[in-house]
Amino acid sequence: MADGADWRALAAGMQPRTGLWIDGRWQEAASGARFASVNPATGAVLAEVARGDAADVDRAVRAARRAFEDGRWSRKSPAERKEVLLRLATLIRAHVPELALLDTLDMGKPIAESSTIDAPGSAHFFQWHAEAIDKLYDEIAPTGPGDIAMIRREALGVVGAVVPWNFPLDMATWKLAPALAMGNSVVLKPAEQSPLSALRLAELAAEAGVPDGVLNVVPGYGAEAGQALGLHPDVDCLAFTGSTEVGKLFQTYAGRSNMKQVWLETGGKSPNLIFPDADLDRAADMAAFGIFFNAGEVCSANSRLLVHRDVHDAMVERLVARAGAVVQGDPLDLATTMGPMVDSHHAGRVAGFIDRARGGARLVTGGERVTRFGSDAWITPTIFDRVDPTSELAREEVFGPVLAVIPFADEAEAVRIANDTAYGLAASVWTRDIDRAFRVSAALKVGTVSVNTVDALSAMTPFGGVKQSGFGRDLSLHSFDKYSALKTVWVKIG
Ligand code: NAD
Repeated sequence: MADGADWRALAAGMQPRTGLWIDGRWQEAASGARFASVNPATGAVLAEVARGDAADVDRAVRAARRAFEDGRWSRKSPAERKEVLLRLATLIRAHVPELALLDTLDMGKPIAESSTIDAPGSAHFFQWHAEAIDKLYDEIAPTGPGDIAMIRREALGVVGAVVPWNFPLDMATWKLAPALAMGNSVVLKPAEQSPLSALRLAELAAEAGVPDGVLNVVPGYGAEAGQALGLHPDVDCLAFTGSTEVGKLFQTYAGRSNMKQVWLETGGKSPNLIFPDADLDRAADMAAFGIFFNAGEVCSANSRLLVHRDVHDAMVERLVARAGAVVQGDPLDLATTMGPMVDSHHAGRVAGFIDRARGGARLVTGGERVTRFGSDAWITPTIFDRVDPTSELAREEVFGPVLAVIPFADEAEAVRIANDTAYGLAASVWTRDIDRAFRVSAALKVGTVSVNTVDALSAMTPFGGVKQSGFGRDLSLHSFDKYSALKTVWVKIG
């Protein structure tokens, strides 16, 4: 697409899917209810989407169970499942503009990102997991002659997936690709703010050859469809990405029902440590990316900038310049680098954090909630300096474009502040000292440390947290662990 006019023309002709996708066809919610999917950049209603609840989740789980037990997918060879999922990757690539547009309209991220990162990323993640699945070998234990003890990896059955709105297509993909490749059936509940790309993805999966009932998508509210999936007695595993608060609920749902396995990818308050020997220009570029990319609505956003006091002023000056270079505007314009918050409610929540921080810390740029195109969901890129490490802004996940700068005196203090958080998702370290890089990386209690970059991420490496950022890993070969169980088959040789 050459420019925003092309994207607006494509948007005008869009006809989003709005039903429940169950057992390979569109269905209405049993209640007949629908909810509005709203474009946060303008406040316009995009579509009225079927509002699934417990009855619909039950219908989807039954379809998924039937499909799993009759083996239409679960008993295909890994190579056969690979072929189907590779076809899906190809179809996603062919539909990048449409899928990107659905995410941009639904949750406000710039089309320049959804069309180059999110939608192509989804194709890549499906391809990666598909290509991996027929290269995983089972094991034989070293028991000695007279016995053969096989350690086999088997699909679990019905997987429930509940995902957030910040990367709608990719968060769904991170669950679906390994779960389906392993041979499970899945019931996916997308976030109520952003159900549209998941619904289209389900249709593309069917076109690629994923059999009926193997992938089901039930849009709806968290407290209705999400809770019903968490409590369902015939779901074997629940993979969740979202807030820590709701993640804890899923643990209780499992305890109250069938003790299903629960995997949680939850919140973060990731620190970015800048030592005096860092390449400050590069560190400032990436620190700005780390907090302003996707409007800060990133679980691993580098929302705490811990900077050595010797380079503090130089870093803050650079960051203010980077914040000034952010282009907020119509997400369909290719020049736009930051869209609105996902909705007006969330913008109000972010504005609340900003207002409460004003008394204690020094606001150096931004801090405004503005109305554009008739929507009040816009927050300007914001930096607070000299933030008290014990204050709300330093401890709570804002999930918006709000950076807390915290000076430190030495390495020990930097590590202490970095680890003084309930979360443990990611961290970044900037230094040219190789010993310090390894020492600090080892001391940080997080799932991923990026050295001289931020948010390093790839299909090849596991992604997930420790502490209250959750447990279990998305991506990499380790993601298959979540969607499979080991079975020992011990054969005595007569
Ligand atoms: P959220 O927890 O409010 O919602 C996530 C999903 O849970 C949605 O589908 C929602 O409908 C559902 N849900 C909400 N309440 C529920 C309930 N009572 N019972 C069952 N399901 C319920 O999170 P959000 O606001 O959509 O997303 C932002 C959060 O997601 C942030 O905390 C962010 O850090 C986190 N996140 C984490 C990762 C990661 O990999 N660690 C990635 C992206 C986002």
